Amino acid sequence: MSHTLFTQVTIIGGGFSGVMTAVNLARLGLPSSEITILNTLRPAGRGVAYGTRRMEHLLNVAARNMSAFPDLPDHFVNWLRSRSEFDLIRENELRERFIPRVIYGDYLRSLMHHHLPDARLVDAEAVDYANRMVLLAGGGSIEAGRVVLATGNEAPADLPGAESLQENPAWAGNPWLPWHERLPPDTESIVLLGTGLTTVDAIITLRALGWLGRIHAVSRHGWLPHAHFRGVEYPDFPPADTDLAALGLDRLAALMEDHCARLRAMGANPAIIVDKMRPHTQRIWQGFSLEQRLAFTRQHAARWNVLRHRIAPEIHAQITSAQLTGQLQVHAENIEHVEAAGARVRVHFEGGGQLEGGLVINATGPRTRFSSTRSVLLRNLLRRGLISSDDMDMGARVDGSHTVIDRDGGVSPYLLALGPLLRGTYWETIAVPELRGQALRVAETILGQKSTPAAETPVMMEYMI
Ligand SMILES: Cc1cc2nc3c(=O)[nH]c(=O)nc-3n(C[C@H](O)[C@H](O)[C@H](O)COP(=O)(O)OP(=O)(O)OC[C@H]3O[C@@H](n4cnc5c(N)ncnc54)[C@H](O)[C@@H]3O)c2cc1C
Repeated sequence: MSHTLFTQVTIIGGGFSGVMTAVNLARLGLPSSEITILNTLRPAGRGVAYGTRRMEHLLNVAARNMSAFPDLPDHFVNWLRSRSEFDLIRENELRERFIPRVIYGDYLRSLMHHHLPDARLVDAEAVDYANRMVLLAGGGSIEAGRVVLATGNEAPADLPGAESLQENPAWAGNPWLPWHERLPPDTESIVLLGTGLTTVDAIITLRALGWLGRIHAVSRHGWLPHAHFRGVEYPDFPPADTDLAALGLDRLAALMEDHCARLRAMGANPAIIVDKMRPHTQRIWQGFSLEQRLAFTRQHAARWNVLRHRIAPEIHAQITSAQLTGQLQVHAENIEHVEAAGARVRVHFEGGGQLEGGLVINATGPRTRFSSTRSVLLRNLLRRGLISSDDMDMGARVDGSHTVIDRDGGVSPYLLALGPLLRGTYWETIAVPELRGQALRVAETILGQKSTPAAETPVMMEYMI
């Protein structure tokens, strides 16, 4: 494309966040012909999470909590009824199901088709924004009154030594690009760097493909995600007279430890406390000082994440089975560097140990240092001072209406942002239960409408099944 287009609103990023911002704009009255969605690498609507083609990849949130709309909580479950494979499933059971992520992508695509019949979908990478023009890789531009940054999660940061492995078939630097087309023979090992949700995806795929070799998973603590579970009633937390956001980190951590111990003594899972924190986490994070935020990420974040990002019980059962049969071995190690070793890649640990794999996959989690982003667009916007890093350097700085704050502290007249880019502002800003409220709020800001209670409530759910 080399000509200039004009739209009222241009949304950069066509994952859940970008598409649902567009859908909400249309719901609130903006003609969809005034909207452009720019997206690269995969079909708009699916994004990284729902762009998988593999049916064994399940949502890690139960269907009842995956509505794309904060004001229509049963929307996804009702939509599932349009598909024949769910016809015979009772309502209660369907609500608790963990649905294949590819079907959730179908849901988002169907919302696009319904609400955005005249929107312009452009398959191109945005690389800059200047003089009210979004500039595209390979030429072309879009003049836009407002621009929404919905660029999502970045691929994991490179590990030391990885720069020399970019063309090496035994190295997969981006776990979300198709690596399963170049599996080594079963006599080899596969090494997964990271033990989070992406590593779980990879193990499930290897099993679905019938790959029988040895799998190693490595992370600092060696903690795999826990399973969702059916919780007990526990009305004692948060205590009725306590404002969790006013406690500060140390008193909050002590209160949580105390209630975890009480739950353990009752024979119940202490992760119930993490679930009960969810509606409060954004407010608590925003109440923390910078020192408290830094201390939280150093001392508590790893444990928080493993209790918070849980997986479907049937997926957990497969991971446990892989461990019991000896196919999967988990290692608690700090990775020092990676290097080529003949047809394999060798991973060195700080303690002196090492592992080799016929395929080594970097699943260490999305890059979080915003100032070292690899996105050409975000680098250019930072260089121009049109966006700025938040205090934690985890993402872009925004105000309460999701409008971007520039380098000089000014409120941008053009740019808004949502999704994982706001990690430093909200901490919890990655899953649908948070993002659906953000998408509505961004649409309301653009159209100058008053925020609805639905958009103000970031999380309205229990994670227990
Ligand atoms: C493997 C995985 C599984 C997950 N499972 C769940 C789940 O079960 N439930 C849940 O609630 N959440 C889940 N999540 C969290 C998930 O990230 C969010 O639910 C949501 O999909 C994030 O959407 P997004 O639009 O913000 O980002 P993304 O999905 O990352 O989409 C961003 C899009 O923007 C495009 N883009 C980026 N930069 C540019 C540019 N410069 N120009 C043009 N296009 C650009 C990217 O190519 C991408 O398509 C999962 C995440 C992952 C990675």
